[in-house]
Amino acid sequence: MCRALIIGAGGVGTVVTQKVAANPIFSDVMLASRTKSKCDAVAAAIGGDRVKTAQVDADNVAELCELFRSFKPDIVINVALPYQDLTIMDACLECGANYLDTANYEPKDEAHFEYSWQWAYQDRFKEKGLTAILGCGFDPGVTAIFTAYAAKHHFDEIHYLDIVDCNAGNHGKAFATNFNPEINIREVTQKGRYYENGKWVVTEPHEIHKPLHYPEIGERESYVIYHEELESLVKNYPTIKRARFWMTFGQEYLTHLRVIQDIGMARIDPIIYNGVEIVPIQFLKAVLPDPKSLGANYHGKTSIGCRIRGIKDGKEHTYYIYNNCDHEKAYAETGTQAVSFTTGVPAALGASMWAKGLWRGAGVFNVEEFDPDPFLAELGEQGLPWVEKFDVDIEV
Ligand code: NDP
Repeated sequence: MCRALIIGAGGVGTVVTQKVAANPIFSDVMLASRTKSKCDAVAAAIGGDRVKTAQVDADNVAELCELFRSFKPDIVINVALPYQDLTIMDACLECGANYLDTANYEPKDEAHFEYSWQWAYQDRFKEKGLTAILGCGFDPGVTAIFTAYAAKHHFDEIHYLDIVDCNAGNHGKAFATNFNPEINIREVTQKGRYYENGKWVVTEPHEIHKPLHYPEIGERESYVIYHEELESLVKNYPTIKRARFWMTFGQEYLTHLRVIQDIGMARIDPIIYNGVEIVPIQFLKAVLPDPKSLGANYHGKTSIGCRIRGIKDGKEHTYYIYNNCDHEKAYAETGTQAVSFTTGVPAALGASMWAKGLWRGAGVFNVEEFDPDPFLAELGEQGLPWVEKFDVDIEV
C-alpha cells in the first residue's frame, strides 16, 4: 500500500504517471499540477479511475498542505520545475510525506543550481524520519546510479569520471528544447564547470569540446558543461580526481542559442512591455514548441552513460556503462519523446524502490547513496536497458 502524488503534468509527469499507474505497489495515484486540464488528459489516456487529478500551485506551501492533507500521500514525486523543490519539501515536512525529485533547486532570479539549498533540509527530514531522494531522473539519476554500480562491482577506486549525454534525435524543428525551455536554456548557456584535483575549474560556455563516438550513433561534437550530479558524486566518491559532464549540441542549435542570448531573449530579469511585467525567457518559452509535442516526429536515439577510469586489484581499468533510448519507441509507448521518457522512467522506478522498502532512510539522499542493484535490475524491463563495456577506449 503506497499512495503516490505526482506534481507536474509536463512531458516528464506524463511518463511518471503512466509508469506509477501501471505498478501495483502504488495503491492510489494522484497527478496534480498548475493546469488541471493537463492532468485530466493524462489520467483519461490511462483510463478507468486509476489516476485522480487536482489543481495546485506548488509555489504555495499552504495550498500544497491542503492537498497533502486530503490525499495523504506516502511519497510525493516532484516533476514540476526546480523552482518548486523547496516549497514541496517544506510541505512534505509539514504533512509527513516522503519526497523524490529529478532536478535540484534553482532560484527563479538566478540561473544557478547547487545542492546546498536541499542538503540544508537534512536535519529536518532526519528528525521527522522521512526520506528525501534527490535527482532521480536520468542525468541526474541513472548516471549517478551507474557510478554507484561501477564503484560497487568494478572498481576499488574511481579516478576519472566522464558522463556523456548525446541526443542524436531529430524532431524536424529549426529550434526546440527537449525539456522545459526555460530550465534547459538557463542550464546550457551558463559557464562550463568541472572538477579536478579537489577544485572546480570554470570555463566559458562551450569552451571545451571534442568529438566523441556514441554506440549505434557515431561521432558527435560533445561539449563540457556543468551538470548537477557532479557536485554530489565528487562528494560521495572522494577518490575521484576529475569529473566532467559532456553534452552533444548541433551547430544549428548553438547558433540559435547564441542569437537568443544576443538579442536578450534569454534574460531572466523582468522587463516592462506595454505596461506589463514580463520575463523574456518565460515569454520565449510560450512561443517555442512544447517539448511534449515533439514526440510525434522525433527520430533517432539518445545515448547517455558514464565513462570511468580507475583501479581494481591494483590495476588500471576503463569501463563504459550506458543506455540508448529510441525516440520513436518512447513515443509509441508513452506518447512522449525519449528525453521525457528517460527522465520519467527512473523517477517512477525510484519511487517504487522507496515503496518496496529498498531505498529508505531518514534524511536527504542523492541516488548514489542507495543500493544500485535492485534499481538497475528493473531498469531494463521498465524500458531503459543498459550495456557495459570493459577495458575499451573511452576517448576522454
Ligand atoms: P514541463 O515544463 O513540460 O512540465 C512542468 C510541469 O510543471 C507543467 O505541467 C507545469 O504546469 C507544472 N508547473 C510549473 N510550475 C508549477 C507550479 N508552480 N505549480 C504546479 N505545477 C507547476 O517540464 P518537463 O516535464 O520537461 O520537466 C519536468 C522536470 O523534469 C523539470 O524540473 C526538469 O528540470 C526535470 N528534468 C530532469 C531531467 C533529468 O534527467 N534528471 C531531464 C529532463 C527534465 P503548466 O502545465 O501549467 O505549465
